[in-house]
Amino acid sequence: MRWDHQVDVLVFGAGMGGMTAALVAALEGLDVLLCEKTDQVGGTTATSAGTVWIPGSNQAARDGVPDSIDDARRFLAAEIGPRAEAVREAFLEAGPAALDYLETRSEVKFRAPPKHPDYHSNRPGRALAGRALAPLPFDGRLLGKDFGRVRPPIAPFMVLGGMMVGKDDIPILLKPFASVQSFVAAVKLLLRHATDRLRYRRGTRLVMGNALVARLFYSLRIRNVPIAFDAKLVELVRDKNHVDGAVVDIGDKRQTIRARRGVILATGGFAPNETLRGEFMKGLPVAHSNAFAGASGDGFSAARAAGAAVDDEHTNPAFYFPSSLHQDTVYPHILLDRAKPGLIAVNKDGRRFVNESDSYHDFAEAMLRTNAATPSVPAWLICDRGFIRDYGIGLVRPGARSREIERFVAEEYLHRADTLIELAQRIGVVGKNLLRSVQEHNRYAETGVDEAFGKGGTEYNQFNGDPANKPNPCLRPIAEPPFFAVAVYPSTMGTCVGLSTDGDARVLDENGVPIAGLYAVGNDMASLFRGVYVGPGITLGPALVFAYRAVMHLASSASAGLGDSRRRISA
Ligand SMILES: Cc1cc2nc3c(=O)[nH]c(=O)nc-3n(C[C@H](O)[C@H](O)[C@H](O)COP(=O)(O)OP(=O)(O)OC[C@H]3O[C@@H](n4cnc5c(N)ncnc54)[C@H](O)[C@@H]3O)c2cc1C
Repeated sequence: MRWDHQVDVLVFGAGMGGMTAALVAALEGLDVLLCEKTDQVGGTTATSAGTVWIPGSNQAARDGVPDSIDDARRFLAAEIGPRAEAVREAFLEAGPAALDYLETRSEVKFRAPPKHPDYHSNRPGRALAGRALAPLPFDGRLLGKDFGRVRPPIAPFMVLGGMMVGKDDIPILLKPFASVQSFVAAVKLLLRHATDRLRYRRGTRLVMGNALVARLFYSLRIRNVPIAFDAKLVELVRDKNHVDGAVVDIGDKRQTIRARRGVILATGGFAPNETLRGEFMKGLPVAHSNAFAGASGDGFSAARAAGAAVDDEHTNPAFYFPSSLHQDTVYPHILLDRAKPGLIAVNKDGRRFVNESDSYHDFAEAMLRTNAATPSVPAWLICDRGFIRDYGIGLVRPGARSREIERFVAEEYLHRADTLIELAQRIGVVGKNLLRSVQEHNRYAETGVDEAFGKGGTEYNQFNGDPANKPNPCLRPIAEPPFFAVAVYPSTMGTCVGLSTDGDARVLDENGVPIAGLYAVGNDMASLFRGVYVGPGITLGPALVFAYRAVMHLASSASAGLGDSRRRISA
């Protein structure tokens, strides 16, 4: 093999997994090259909320919400059972160390919000806070002209032509006159944005996934870690049981790059790839994805071609959102509307089928389950005028004026009628059942107890409700005409099926033996959560921890270019 370049570590994909791996490799003194197939960093990570689920961290203890790894272990045992235990243990063991490592040695920093419950917050060992950590906001101006290299969030997650809004900013911007502090905070946010727009194409006050990506990118840049843009993994070069490097298209030039210590795949799984979805999600009516279009299965496919095994033993092959569709936008209904009081979801029968305030994944999973007996894809979110005024629905923002509502009605995103029977006719669901569903729900709203599905019955449900609404923060009558409906479909946020690995993220072959020199992290690695969505941040958390573990493993391999596993295989 004639190599055009040689490095210690070759990383593919500049999302959470790949940027973390490249950063840790550089911090460990290794000669690393990060290859990203597009001209921007971030992948799906850039459009995400940026939450990482990592139990037992020092950050949680420091921020006053301590968590215990033993509790997390109990919780995971209750949620997942005895599956992927070795990888799970590796994750639990290394999580706090990985966070500390990044916090002390780079600009990648997190805080633990005072409340952010696990999704099944009635399970033993669950945490109400401390496991889900949020990246600290970041000032994009620090990146200089590199700011343009940070993939922006999807448009509906920004306001006023490019201003990012975090969860904590929403009440401030919706009710700036609620207090002096709110007013001052709102004015500060708006002034900063106005100043930004004089010089930048969007706001530079970054929060959530964009802050996380910018922090990783900044940390790489200030250490001069080489990043090749428009650099696409084409195939892996494998010699017997060892991956030696890869063929990479950089711009319009094909290059061979040797990786003396290892190749780390972090190309984001295959959620938007229809062919791979057809293979691993056969028969499931899931036609849309919220993941970045470029995360299209390149690393996954290259590793399979090099003999890697696929791990597809999951309760669900992917993690889901319920999403509404408008032109090119697949809008995920994450937490702003479903759990709020005054909304129900019904299927084609006009009947409820789920606790609407459960997590997005559980909601979509219920759609798929129910769909086997009664058409539930799409399902319909039903609310009244007062709900839109107070909370908004999907792309329709809280307080939307009549003109905006008219536009969404004309574009058939929003369906509207003066009576529920008329609304049912318009959207093709059984009218008398819809009427009964709303009447029953309204009765539950009076008592505060949803006898059918328990909406608002857990800490997690209530966290996303409206605390000012009594007695149940997630229930209030649907009674103020006109009535509205929005269709939602299950969409993939990321894949759970992925490459089979061990606890050091080493890719395994069909015999369960590590392919020396090959690692997979992020969504290229099979999810340790086995398709069960246990809490916020369960894809980015492992992406961070296994990127750290992979580099620590290859950094400690005794002989460059061989790696301990190769010697074990040939022994
Ligand atoms: C709206 C939304 C909110 C979310 N919020 C959260 C959250 O808060 N917490 C959480 O844990 N998860 C969240 N997720 C899921 C999470 O964003 C993804 O699971 C995660 O970003 C995947 O990270 P990754 O590093 O594997 O891939 P990505 O971030 O997608 O990065 C992959 C990169 O690889 C590049 N690439 C692809 N092919 C090649 C190739 N051949 N050669 C070189 N480069 C290549 C891509 O261009 C891309 O830049 C959310 C998802 C969405 C859609």
